[in-house]
Amino acid sequence: MPSGAETTFDFIVVGAGSAGCVVARRLSDDPAVSVLLVEAGPPARGFWVRTPAGMAKLFKHPRYNWGYFTEPVPTLRDRVLYWPRGKAVGGSSAINGLVYVRGNRSDFDHWASLGNSGWAWEDVLPHFRRIENRGEAARPSQGTQGELAVSDSAIKHPTAVDFIESSRRLGIPAVDVFNGEETEAVGFLQANIRNGVRQSSYDAFLEPVRHRANLVIESGAHVKRILLEGGRAVGIEMLQDNKVRSFTVKREVIVCAGALNSPQVLMLSGIGDGAELSRHGIDTVHHLPGVGRNLQDHFVARIQAAVTPESSYNRALNGWRMYAEGMRYLVTRGGYLALPSSMAGAFVKSSPAVDYSDLEISFRPMTFTHLPSGQVRVDPIDAVGASVYNTRPASRGRVTLRSPNPLEPPRFQPNFLEHSDDIRVMLSGVRRLRQIFATEPLASRVVSEITPGADRVTDEQLLDYLQREGHCAFHPAGSCKMGNDDMSVVDSRLRVRGLTGLRVADASIMPTVTAGNTNAPSIMIGEKASDMIRADYQ
Ligand SMILES: Cc1cc2nc3c(=O)[nH]c(=O)nc-3n(C[C@H](O)[C@H](O)[C@H](O)COP(=O)(O)OP(=O)(O)OC[C@H]3O[C@@H](n4cnc5c(N)ncnc54)[C@H](O)[C@@H]3O)c2cc1C
Repeated sequence: MPSGAETTFDFIVVGAGSAGCVVARRLSDDPAVSVLLVEAGPPARGFWVRTPAGMAKLFKHPRYNWGYFTEPVPTLRDRVLYWPRGKAVGGSSAINGLVYVRGNRSDFDHWASLGNSGWAWEDVLPHFRRIENRGEAARPSQGTQGELAVSDSAIKHPTAVDFIESSRRLGIPAVDVFNGEETEAVGFLQANIRNGVRQSSYDAFLEPVRHRANLVIESGAHVKRILLEGGRAVGIEMLQDNKVRSFTVKREVIVCAGALNSPQVLMLSGIGDGAELSRHGIDTVHHLPGVGRNLQDHFVARIQAAVTPESSYNRALNGWRMYAEGMRYLVTRGGYLALPSSMAGAFVKSSPAVDYSDLEISFRPMTFTHLPSGQVRVDPIDAVGASVYNTRPASRGRVTLRSPNPLEPPRFQPNFLEHSDDIRVMLSGVRRLRQIFATEPLASRVVSEITPGADRVTDEQLLDYLQREGHCAFHPAGSCKMGNDDMSVVDSRLRVRGLTGLRVADASIMPTVTAGNTNAPSIMIGEKASDMIRADYQ
């Protein structure tokens, strides 16, 4: 036992985010097993955490958000982009937009084709079904008994109905719900909202069992490093209330710190590219050059249009009406404050030559502006907005260290649009979205395009818009990728290659980011990881 260690647990889970909460829940289901869950952030509490529309208030929240920034991105005119990440019990699921999308079956079949056995769609579908609780409204293929609420939109606004109809008239099949098996589809989005209240991964999986005798949750506890002896993880060292504390582990440490912090924690522990580690004076315990490589995120462009007054709910969230809306939410748990970040979505192909949709469009009958203060303001004009991103980006970024100080943010570079395919797909996406806006019945509601603006038409003008205004979708993934090549960090059972007693289980293990919002697949990864871990100790 390392000197000074307080207690030994069977398992230590680092990070109480979307994946970490499920891992801690499932492992502690066995009363004979002791689990320590360590989270850097505080418990997530308060009105704006519970209220779905509170995402705007949490976007730069000093307490619940790491508030990271990229390095200057050369392909985006050296802009520095803001990357919110949840720093709370619940992780990014405590601050996110709540949209529930499993990803596409082709994502998982692709992972399996890379040599990751057990990760094909037919393998992961039972895990999605097991976590989902779609209640009585469940459609075939959806789970009904899981812990995570998945609900329909509380409001189906007429403009979103028209967005769906315009898309349908352009040949995109309309669906009742997305289940991950569609090639192209348009419809209303579902969300992790239970009776009008946010359901983070903590709310769903851990809150009901938080008093278990075999489960200890330490919040406000920043893991400095994993302790390794003879190629085996033997514990962790963490900083809490200005004190260094350490705990030992009998079986495994499972790192679930997210796509930016999991590689950081590994590197701070001496696991990573030896050259990079020595630049920071860190002894290389295990040379693993893929740590931090293969970073991916979806790159987003927005289209906003001025519309007829009844077509937008911006005014309901401005002036005195905002108070009426707040009262409506308090009394009914419904209304515009009970909505996720987008109301309707479409998965479409950038060209007929593509097998599966490589564009996701998210539509909302409202618009907002990010103010320099960090606040998000709902625009006081009648307008609607939609965003589009390339679901399968070819560009790759990297997470490295800024310094050996664990409290410093990691350094990361997304290299958005570095690959020419990504530019082609995004230009096609903006044009496809414009086409939907120009098709009836949505077209009759549109007065004029606000952004990119009618004067931006050519490839050059639209690329200029992407470079100046495009941003991330908050879906970082891939930085500790699963696989069996030299740049893989974990194997298909999520064990860190070349070490024992150490796994990574969160969005960082995705070999390629899924084609959609990444909360559901991150939770599924936690669910599947715990299955594999339990099986390994039977
Ligand atoms: C603003 C925003 C909006 C989003 N909207 C959506 C959406 O609508 N739908 C969707 O599907 N996805 C959305 N996402 C993405 C989704 O939430 C993430 O993909 C998902 O939560 C990632 O899960 P994870 O387990 O990999 O990491 P996280 O949930 O980020 O968990 C990592 C946890 O580890 C903790 N941690 C990190 N370092 C340490 C350390 N050294 N010591 C201790 N703890 C540590 C963190 O504080 C955090 O709690 C959004 C994300 C953001 C930020």
